[in-house]
Amino acid sequence: MTRPGAGLRFATVLWDGQATLVGVLDGAVVHLGAAARALRRGRKAAATGALPADMLGLIGGGPSGLRAAKAVLQAAARCLSDGTWRARPRDPVVRPLDRARTLSPIPRPPRNIFCVGRNYAEHAKERGADVPTVPVFFTKPPSAVVGHEAGVICWPATQNLDYEAELVVVIGRRGRDIPRARAYEYVFGYTIMNDITARDLQKKHTQWFKGKGLDTFAPLGPWIVPKSALPAPHALRIALRVNGEPRQEATTADMIFRIEELIEVLSAGMTLEPGDLIATGTPSGVGAGFVPPLWLAPGDVVEAEVEGIGILRNRIVAPGR
Ligand code: MN
Repeated sequence: MTRPGAGLRFATVLWDGQATLVGVLDGAVVHLGAAARALRRGRKAAATGALPADMLGLIGGGPSGLRAAKAVLQAAARCLSDGTWRARPRDPVVRPLDRARTLSPIPRPPRNIFCVGRNYAEHAKERGADVPTVPVFFTKPPSAVVGHEAGVICWPATQNLDYEAELVVVIGRRGRDIPRARAYEYVFGYTIMNDITARDLQKKHTQWFKGKGLDTFAPLGPWIVPKSALPAPHALRIALRVNGEPRQEATTADMIFRIEELIEVLSAGMTLEPGDLIATGTPSGVGAGFVPPLWLAPGDVVEAEVEGIGILRNRIVAPGR
């Protein structure tokens, strides 16, 4: 038996030069707008209701927009499996996933990304910090966001470049003073962030914004999984590898403050908006925790993985490339 949303994934890819909302199937990306038109022409229209124009439209569009997008994607999956459609590099409707240039699922988030520091006890300890009794919030600017496979720049401003694999909650509905019992009503879905950190700047400036806010320091993606496809977000393996070598390996069950509590505390007196992102913190195994520390350098390939979502992969690059 499959869950209602099993396998649902939505991405933003560069499609003929345009940032475009696509559905992701095994090995293929589906241009939802073009697929809906093709299905109507072939009188196979499964879609009802208006199809969202982009990812923010999908996230904030409520259940009807998601239903329409899901219906188009499922019809497309049938057309692919019965051979009516084929994924081809220049096809107007379906293209091979491995040829797609994936952007951040929300190419430019409307405002700063909310982040939680020290939300796994073992990570707090490896950083020499006390286990917090209230969530530690900070933010990263939208200008730091890049997508899957994008380069992360090792800026001359830092000698201590580090990684942090994190599960990200995507808010789908406006709300304030959200009680934890209703928190998931405000969740659209989930993605992955690598909370790239310049440890020397983080320490030097005391506040974390500078050390975590440089350009390319917020890789996001590769796509967003709606919450119906991920009904147990606190039972997921979370891992990070550098050049294939395991560095972080934990479970989201180990979070100190769970998603419902983070939403309750963050939304107290503060409005959350559709498209807001909450990065829920990283487990132990960051580069700074090794003796001697293991800093990232140009050429390194970093993979952040969360079970049920996928793998966010980025290469560290020197500036000016
Ligand atoms: Mn972090």
